[in-house]
Amino acid sequence: MGAIVAMCLLGQSSAADVPRDRTDLEFARGVEEFVMASAPDPVRAMPEPFRGLIAGLGDPSWLRRDAATSGLREAAASDPRWLFWGRHDPDPEVRLRCNAVLRRLYPCWGCRGTGRSRNWDAWPCWDCDGTATAWPYSMWD
Ligand SMILES: [Zn+2]
Repeated sequence: MGAIVAMCLLGQSSAADVPRDRTDLEFARGVEEFVMASAPDPVRAMPEPFRGLIAGLGDPSWLRRDAATSGLREAAASDPRWLFWGRHDPDPEVRLRCNAVLRRLYPCWGCRGTGRSRNWDAWPCWDCDGTATAWPYSMWD
């Protein structure tokens, strides 16, 4: 039953469903984690080029890791849902880079990515605590 629901969700979400704010990002994360948990083999369920790019994030060569990060940043601009899948990779470098791409793709809407308040820059932005990103930093990343 869970696999059927997951396949329906996978089929309904599209690249046009780009998250707009932090709540959308959290919802997209929840949907993708549910679908990923229901997939029999999450790595093989990822389409190309995302599978290759996410695998490249853990390459021993930093040149290839950076190239994969740049490629993933471009590819995920229109379809970011696979970044949530990459956040569950066993390699911490892959998880770190997927979160970094998410933070770069989604600047805070409250401060427009500056991290400063709109009121004379007197204090950090309340929406993002001055981090300038809509995807929050977490010790669980
Ligand atoms: Zn902000």
